[in-house]
Amino acid sequence: MFAVVKANGYGHGLTQAAQACLEAGATGLCVAILDEGLTLRAAGITVPILVLGITEPRWASLAAEQQISLTVGSLDWFRQAAELLTTAQAPILNVHLALDTGMGRIGFQEPAALKETVDYLNAHTEIFTFEGIFTHFATADEQDPTYFKQQCQRWQAFMAVLSTRPRYVHVSNTATSLWHDACNGNMIRYGVGIYGLNPSGGTIESPYQLEPALRLTTQLAFVKHLAAGMSVSYGATYTAKQDEWVGTLPIGYADGYPRRMQGFYVLVDGQKCEIIGRVCMDQMMVRLPHEYPVDTAVTLIGQDGEQTITMQAVADYAGTIHYEIATTLGMRVPRVYEDQ
Ligand SMILES: *Cc1c(COP(=O)(O)O)cnc(C)c1O
Repeated sequence: MFAVVKANGYGHGLTQAAQACLEAGATGLCVAILDEGLTLRAAGITVPILVLGITEPRWASLAAEQQISLTVGSLDWFRQAAELLTTAQAPILNVHLALDTGMGRIGFQEPAALKETVDYLNAHTEIFTFEGIFTHFATADEQDPTYFKQQCQRWQAFMAVLSTRPRYVHVSNTATSLWHDACNGNMIRYGVGIYGLNPSGGTIESPYQLEPALRLTTQLAFVKHLAAGMSVSYGATYTAKQDEWVGTLPIGYADGYPRRMQGFYVLVDGQKCEIIGRVCMDQMMVRLPHEYPVDTAVTLIGQDGEQTITMQAVADYAGTIHYEIATTLGMRVPRVYEDQ
C-alpha cells in the first residue's frame, strides 16, 4: 500500500501524514510532483516514493539521485531523459508507465505505443528500471459500473502486450480499492481514505468505518452586541432583525474556508451558530445565542457536544467536494497533531 500524501497530505501536512502512514504500515508514498518527493527525502524518509504527475525530463537525474520514481507517458520523454541521465552519469532511474484507459489525463493511449516503449526500456536497462505500470479510474466512486468496466477492458488490452510484469502493477485509488475488485494489481494508491474521508462523499457507503482525521477549530476573537437594524460585513448583506450577540472569528477565505459559506453555521458550546454576512479574507462573523467570552472555542469542522459538522457538509454547502476543502486549507492555519 502506497499512501498518497500529495497536496500537503490533502491539507493535513505532508511529512506528518507520511510519517503517520508509514507507522501504520504503508510500504511507500505517492506524491503529485517531484518537489513533494524531495521534501519527504529531506525529512529523512527512505521508503519508495512515486511521483504521479509528469516531471520534466530535465529533472530526471535529480529524481534518480534521490531514488524517487517517476511517472512517464510517452517514449519521447525517455529519449530526452536518456541523454541527460547519461551525461550526468546519474544512477538508474525508476519509472512507472501511466496508461490512459479512459481518464484522459496522462499516459499511453494505445497498446502499440506501450509495446514500443517497453522494448525501448528493455534495451536501456543501464539507464532506466521499468519498475511499475498503472492506470487511474474516472468513475470508481460512482454507482454505475459501465465506464469502469470499459476502462478495465482497455487495461487488459494494454497488459496483454507485456511479456513480463514490472514489480508494481497498480490501478486502485481509494474508491477502487473500497468498491471494486482490482484488475490484478499488487499495489494500491490509497489517498483520501487515509484521512478518513469517503471518496464518494457518502453516496456509496464504505465497507468499513472511516474516521475523519481533521478538525478545524478557532476561537472567538471579538464579541459584541449588535443593535437591530445594523449590518455585518462586505456588501452589508446581513442586517440584524433584532438585538443580538455577534462573535468574530479570526479565519476567512484566505485560510481555505470558502467565501460562499454565509448562511451555513459553526459550533459554539455545542450549538449551531449561523455565519452572518460575507466571509471575509481573514475574518468572519457568527450570531451567538447569548454573550460568550472572547477565546471561547469554535468548531468549523468536527464535533462539539452532540453536534458534528463534517467536511462533506461544508463541501456540499460550498458546491464542491471535500477533497477541495481539505487541500485548500491555508498555510497559515496551524496544524496541531494529536496522538491517537
Ligand atoms: C490523487 C490520486 C490518487 C489518490 O486518489 P484518492 O481518491 O484520494 O484515493 C491515486 N492515483 C492517482 C493517479 C492520483 O492522482
